[in-house]
Amino acid sequence: MSVESPADKQNNREPDVTPGSLYLVATPIGNLADITQRAVEVLGTVDMIAAEDTRHSQRLLSHLGIRSKLLAYHEHNEDRMTPRLLDDLLAGSSIALISDAGTPLISDPGYRLVSQAHDRGVTVVPVPGVCAAIAALSAAGLATDSFTFEGFPPAKQGARLHYLERLATQQRTMIFYVSCHRIIETLKDMLAVFGGTRRLAFARELTKTFETIKRAELSELIEWVENDENQRKGEIVLIVEGKVDDAKDAGQVDHYLTVLLSELPVKQAVKLVVKMTGENKNDIYKRALELKGA
Ligand code: SAM
Repeated sequence: MSVESPADKQNNREPDVTPGSLYLVATPIGNLADITQRAVEVLGTVDMIAAEDTRHSQRLLSHLGIRSKLLAYHEHNEDRMTPRLLDDLLAGSSIALISDAGTPLISDPGYRLVSQAHDRGVTVVPVPGVCAAIAALSAAGLATDSFTFEGFPPAKQGARLHYLERLATQQRTMIFYVSCHRIIETLKDMLAVFGGTRRLAFARELTKTFETIKRAELSELIEWVENDENQRKGEIVLIVEGKVDDAKDAGQVDHYLTVLLSELPVKQAVKLVVKMTGENKNDIYKRALELKGA
């Protein structure tokens, strides 16, 4: 007799859709192959799909051979549609919410619906997949142990500068969505507030033909974007390094120097610490002499 393990059960199961539940289904941000198998199953099984832009989503659904009923749910009809969708859910319909790309609610509509669904006792089920913020963060090569998602900076410069100033001392890695039409001015405002040596990663057109990921210091990145108009096209995520804790940094330099000075001549120890930390050579040399003297 063969015994079905939980994994077998999982692999052979029927699409996991429960009447009266709200599914938040992530869709690709460029490469259609990034749709998950579970997303396809859920989208093909629910009673209806609420989509930000039905014409845009229809292309994805046709590509997947899905014919579930499609209706519009976006920021301009949220007020009117939220109660209607909740009534349908409470009457037993299963509904999937999708946005134009990526994970619904992440700088996309749906917050009101999900919040009220919880209030009314509707089961809310995430069907996870791509999110541009997380895809960019994973490829940025900047600290990932602690980060904040900042969404879109304000479009107007005064408000944007004010908003960036509030983030100037943030030590966590910050994730921004930036319109390509405002990329230069946003980078210049970041330069004014964060300084030219702040590192960041520029992630453009992720999962698409012209995918570009570049990590640099702010001043270098601005020059690069200004000199290549292609970098001012398409969809962009900026991952900005948090403010470096100077005290922590100084402690680390001292630690490296102390260990190396116990084994090596000053010149060699300094050379290695400069390589390891990227700090200024003269500063490290001065500190090495201080430590040696002490
Ligand atoms: N909900 C989406 C998600 O999960 O990523 C984000 C929607 S938000 C309205 C659109 C913004 O996401 C774009 O302006 C851009 O900053 C970012 N984005 C979306 N697709 C992208 C891609 N393929 N490459 C880089 N950024 C992308």
